[in-house]
Amino acid sequence: MAHKINIYKTQNSRLAEFDPHNIGFGKIFTDHMFVADYDGKNWTDLRIEPYSQIQLSPATSALHYGQAIFEGMKAFSASGEVWLFRPKENWKRLNTSAKRMVMPELPEDIFMQGLTALVDIDRQWVPGTDGSSLYIRPFMFATDEHVGVRPSEKYKFIIFCCPVGPYYNNPLRVKVEEHYSRSAPGGTGFAKCSGNYGGSLFATKKAQEEGFDQVLWTDPVTHEFVEETGTTNFFAVIGKNIVTPDLSENLLAGITRDSAIKLLNHMGYEVEERPLSILELKKEFHNGNLKELFITGTAATLINLVGFGHNHHFFDVMAQGDTSISSSLKSLLDGIRYGQSEDVFGWMQKVEQELGEPA
Ligand SMILES: *Cc1c(COP(=O)(O)O)cnc(C)c1O
Repeated sequence: MAHKINIYKTQNSRLAEFDPHNIGFGKIFTDHMFVADYDGKNWTDLRIEPYSQIQLSPATSALHYGQAIFEGMKAFSASGEVWLFRPKENWKRLNTSAKRMVMPELPEDIFMQGLTALVDIDRQWVPGTDGSSLYIRPFMFATDEHVGVRPSEKYKFIIFCCPVGPYYNNPLRVKVEEHYSRSAPGGTGFAKCSGNYGGSLFATKKAQEEGFDQVLWTDPVTHEFVEETGTTNFFAVIGKNIVTPDLSENLLAGITRDSAIKLLNHMGYEVEERPLSILELKKEFHNGNLKELFITGTAATLINLVGFGHNHHFFDVMAQGDTSISSSLKSLLDGIRYGQSEDVFGWMQKVEQELGEPA
């Protein structure tokens, strides 16, 4: 169904001040945003308007009781066109999160039409410089003015965008976290809800004070099994096989994780999705079979790990391994996104030009 989206174009484009060679991450916002309001029954007043501050009542329900969810996705510039990477997967996951948080689901056509209209109108903001892209942040939050814990009736859905430069990913040192948890059995670990991230900051700060870059989360019950790293999914190359923790209600099902598994299979590797213990990682490290550790997520794509710290001991995997599999995986994934490799799985979706000026 084609929805009516009102377009209010900015009179004060900031595009002229935008230097695509000096971007950073998450500090520059494009000219427009997409907004829709849920009135308790329907998504109404679909619109694209100038990116700006929004006014909220101090009693806005999301600020107190945390009904707030988000997505992270990217658009790329290739051969003079703008392309979205697997956008439907983000729409599906947004609704998985919405369901868990008792928030209204967003119909696919509203998500896709709002998204493509926004990226189209701001297409000149998609940087064409090497390794850069347009980071897209769809999110939804509860807007009832109401004190008292219950699901809100009204919600706001917004999409805004940030051009982002290449992510200089130095290999990371991670700390196996055996006390704090980012999720719990029966909890919200599989949902991209804001509270999960607020709750993870303390453990991350402590790990950083101890000289690590990130936390390697373990399962919240026994703390013996690896789950994920910070806000990225975890992979280990053991001998000739690649192992990644199987999905559970504790884990966020990364779209990069899924893409990595499909591409690794396509490259001829076997990927085992199964429980992976710290004990096994340590045993394979000592046997010399632990070759590569890497993590995946939309923001950074793929980052190698130097190794992991456990019980005051650092297991330097890089010192005995290499990065051959992770490097070829990253090249292939980047190749597809920047239009240099064949899009074997049909992941790239072209943003048709209707509203924006040519890039
Ligand atoms: C978003 C996220 C990921 C990565 O998901 P992608 O879809 O690959 O970006 C992994 N773990 C957590 C906790 C996340 O929030």
